[in-house]
Amino acid sequence: MAGRRDPHPGHGAPPHGVGRFAPSPSGDLHLGNLRTGLLAWLFARSTGRGFLMRVEDLDRVKKGAAQRQLEDLAAIGLDWDPPVVWQSQRLPLYAAAIERLTAAGHTYECFCTRKEIQQAVTAPHGPMGAYPGTCRGLTEHEKQRRRDAGRPAALRLRAEAGEFTVTDRLLGEYRGAVDDLVLRRGDGTPAYNLAVVVDDAEQGIDQVVRGDDLLPSTPRQAYLATLLGLPVPEYAHVPLVLNTSGQRLAKRDGAVTLRDRMALGESPQHVLGLLAASLGYSGATTPSALLAQFDPENLPREPWTLDPDGLLQPSPYP
Ligand code: GLU
Repeated sequence: MAGRRDPHPGHGAPPHGVGRFAPSPSGDLHLGNLRTGLLAWLFARSTGRGFLMRVEDLDRVKKGAAQRQLEDLAAIGLDWDPPVVWQSQRLPLYAAAIERLTAAGHTYECFCTRKEIQQAVTAPHGPMGAYPGTCRGLTEHEKQRRRDAGRPAALRLRAEAGEFTVTDRLLGEYRGAVDDLVLRRGDGTPAYNLAVVVDDAEQGIDQVVRGDDLLPSTPRQAYLATLLGLPVPEYAHVPLVLNTSGQRLAKRDGAVTLRDRMALGESPQHVLGLLAASLGYSGATTPSALLAQFDPENLPREPWTLDPDGLLQPSPYP
């Protein structure tokens, strides 16, 4: 495979660093997801970085979706350095990180139900929706009572910082809330925020490119990395793709997946050309053809509004 580098980046990262794309296999990728994947690839490859693919299959898994996602990413011309990593196969890594945080006194058990959290008043000065800290100060006796009542406990971070600042390549400094986020859910599953931090560090990833819907989670993740003594990667949060009503693009918006487009007679190269055009590059049919022109400074900072029916009009792409 072109650009093949160290197959075990966590154990000796390549000298130029590593980027990644980390889709959740909840269904086929739509054009917005594919565009974010293309951007992650362009950011990584244009800086000589390795590029890894990580399947975030701890929840929201649809059978067969991960394989289809990888096929679609390959079909539009993206390549990555093996092996593909599956979060469901890395549970001991997450457990070890949780163990370290717990041993250092940074966690506590939380017995609250979702409903209780929704009904509780947000912590004073806390961000909207932040966990109000109900279970932070439970005595051993109070905890035992809840356990005896059969309540499954989630494990939360005992955050000492109310806010944390990160630097984003496209958006500059971003300061955001750090609350007592869940590290392990009541059913024992490691939480996304924990897994992503552990994986990025373990895989040697020093560049995180993803949709800007994840920006509000980023201060939490950077804080968690710092607490674990792990490096904080460089971030670039890219604008999402919206439908014509200004909402985040979704499957119900029409022919928005690669397979939908191919059913309409479009080739993967054509679709890649559309994605490239939405980024301001015309005439490209492969990601590699974009590399020479790619400049993050010139990327559109606004969301791309997509009309799937409008895409059917004749275009200059094959
Ligand atoms: N798996 C997440 C998603 O598909 C992305 C996580 C990340 O890039 O950090 O929304």
